[in-house]
Amino acid sequence: MSNTGANGTGGQGAGGNVTVDGAALWNDILETARFGGTPKGGIRRLTLTEEDRLVRDWFIAACQAVGCTVTYDSMGNQFARRPGTDDSLPPITMGSHLDTQPTGGKFDGIIGVLGGLAVLRALHATGHDTRHPIELINWTNEEGARFAPAMLSSGVFAGVFTEHEALDKTDRAGIRFEDALVGIGYRGTEPCGQHPVAAYFELHIEQGPILEAENKTIGVVTGVQGMRWYEVTLTGRDSHAGSTPMTMRADALLATARMIEAVNEVALAHGPDAVGTVGLIENRPNSRNVVPGEVFFTIDLRDPDDAVVERMEATFRDRAEAIATECGVQMILERVWDSPAVHFDPACIDAVRRTAGSFGYPARDIVSGAGHDAAYMARITPTTMIFVPCAGGLSHNEAESAESADVAAGANVLLRAVLDADARLDA
Ligand SMILES: [Zn+2]
Repeated sequence: MSNTGANGTGGQGAGGNVTVDGAALWNDILETARFGGTPKGGIRRLTLTEEDRLVRDWFIAACQAVGCTVTYDSMGNQFARRPGTDDSLPPITMGSHLDTQPTGGKFDGIIGVLGGLAVLRALHATGHDTRHPIELINWTNEEGARFAPAMLSSGVFAGVFTEHEALDKTDRAGIRFEDALVGIGYRGTEPCGQHPVAAYFELHIEQGPILEAENKTIGVVTGVQGMRWYEVTLTGRDSHAGSTPMTMRADALLATARMIEAVNEVALAHGPDAVGTVGLIENRPNSRNVVPGEVFFTIDLRDPDDAVVERMEATFRDRAEAIATECGVQMILERVWDSPAVHFDPACIDAVRRTAGSFGYPARDIVSGAGHDAAYMARITPTTMIFVPCAGGLSHNEAESAESADVAAGANVLLRAVLDADARLDA
């Protein structure tokens, strides 16, 4: 299992024949899964809890063992640094997150951090010098499961949120983020966002079914799709289900049903990548013999191309207005969140694609359907991601699963992409 994936031939280029130790990487995944491990084989490691502290402590020891120094900033983001031959250069960085959902798996986020550790271990074991320092980042609160929103600390790092607003977030028990951070001993003195970076690479499971279905080992991630959220309130008229003729109703739920169908049709009409979902409905008064007078529901529209999302929205608005008129209901349709598509750095994407090819790993381009720390890092530094398959596309689930060989392959691509950036970037 050791030195997985080089196939004895491929992988030439920056870094020669250095490859990661796939067995050690797999062992790290199993070892850290103890911190918050669940009976069903998943992990419950909410950010800034005792389990999070334990895995952070483990991270420091593991990184020190491969010759790194570890620091953390004012949001608790951890940085493991391997010096470069020109240590004045900004570091080439890798990273992801070690926090999980309440019923999370062993791979989401975790393989990005431990895959980065495998890269540092490979460089350390072979004594391979890099010009730039190489750093591995463990981002605080990527999941947003305890403190919303998700990607909070990479967001502060990239200037999307202020540190002040982030520190003031509270969990459902009313505990402030800052107090929880101080409580586990990881509130650092370096101001978040003051840390230089030359590039950022993130290895992650796909969290979708495409790579597995196509027997691909590596997803060359070109960006993150654009997403918009809407909230719709339809107001009709509560009336008796027995004595109100069909022609004299203002049925808000019937209008909702037609609008759900319209969301589905609009997404299908804008395919192949467009998706549209109604995931939450509140029907009032929700009584079996009352024609529903008010319904609240949400819409989630996504596509890699912002122009397509824009067209989907316009088409849906027209359809929804016609349906509201037809059903005799008032409609309030509000866009509550707009996250434009993210396009990763072409040179970094190309390095991942070439590297996967040089190892002989089956690969395809893919757009991330989910948000990641890399989406925020892309705003401030050349960034890209590497996906590996997960069984059945299942994620945010204790049964989340990935193959050891695939994770090692992803880490090998990460290693070479980092070395490529080291050779390519001037600063
Ligand atoms: Zn993740």
